[in-house]
Amino acid sequence: MVTYFRRLPKFDYVKPAGIDEVLDLLESNQDGKCRVYAGGTDVIPKLKTRAINSPEILIDLKGIPGLDFITYDDEIGLRIGALATVYSVAHSRVVKDRYPILAQAAGSIASTQVQNRATLVGNICNAVPSADSAPALLCLDATLDCVSKKGERTIRIGDFFLDPNKTSLRADELVREIRIPPSADNSNGVYLKLSSRQRMDLAVVGVAAFISTDGGRVKSARVGLGAVAPTPMRAKKAEEILQGEVIDEKVISRAAKAASEESRPIDDHRASAEYRKIMVDVLVRRGILQVMNL
Ligand SMILES: Cc1cc2nc3c(=O)[nH]c(=O)nc-3n(C[C@H](O)[C@H](O)[C@H](O)COP(=O)(O)OP(=O)(O)OC[C@H]3O[C@@H](n4cnc5c(N)ncnc54)[C@H](O)[C@@H]3O)c2cc1C
Repeated sequence: MVTYFRRLPKFDYVKPAGIDEVLDLLESNQDGKCRVYAGGTDVIPKLKTRAINSPEILIDLKGIPGLDFITYDDEIGLRIGALATVYSVAHSRVVKDRYPILAQAAGSIASTQVQNRATLVGNICNAVPSADSAPALLCLDATLDCVSKKGERTIRIGDFFLDPNKTSLRADELVREIRIPPSADNSNGVYLKLSSRQRMDLAVVGVAAFISTDGGRVKSARVGLGAVAPTPMRAKKAEEILQGEVIDEKVISRAAKAASEESRPIDDHRASAEYRKIMVDVLVRRGILQVMNL
């Protein structure tokens, strides 16, 4: 397939100095009149290839001060601001120490150059099935702190992805930050990405496994899958199989098989649905073994 990059379509470009100005613009946002962007690594190529309709007003968030934070607090947990770059998340000391699964997922996105522009919030608002941070954020029970002129609301990440390129965010809303609950003791997670090339390639399959243990038994298990369904998803049957168990080969096999059966991949130019299902089984198995240091 050949992609022809054209000139950008015509739109008004606005660079607000603060969130209030963005919310004023979004208040009357209907039928895609306004579109916000952060790093623009998704929006700009899509505008050039006409993969998305041109908005009347393109709102550049990058100049807004105070939104590029990454903070951790034992009570609140991790907070990642709307303008924190993918690179800063992948290399943050606190993320690497407390949420290695998220550092791995962010570090697997594109290249250093793209990571330095792209934001983690942009990665999920994109809502593509292969968004690399999504399976990890699903495992970590992330919530999105959203604002509009009508007020604030919190959306659970599990309720955020509705369809490919479609989220539960309203047209007048902005995601201000991602929140992740405090990290639990005796928990560990990994993100494994299968793609055709080492770097600069979207996931053919993405698997996040996150397990907490208590006295050798699984206290809670989360399995997140990417690129194998219309939206990033949790493999809940696999999680149920792991729950309360002492992990051994038999349990791992049952969980990996269940995750594969739950996945709903499609055939596309990257891989067949059949191959993806097989690789879900392989990567879930591998992920659990790594998490449990087996
Ligand atoms: C060469 C290349 C390689 C790539 N490789 C990968 C990859 O390996 N894995 C992967 O997952 N992605 C990949 N991507 C896609 C993209 O880089 C990432 O999804 C990136 O994290 C998007 O972040 P951004 O800040 O650039 O998003 P933008 O392009 O700025 O925005 C993306 C979407 O989010 C919305 N948005 C942004 N911020 C907000 C906000 N605060 N509130 C509400 N909506 C918001 C925008 O309106 C838009 O719909 C790649 C892109 C390129 C160009």
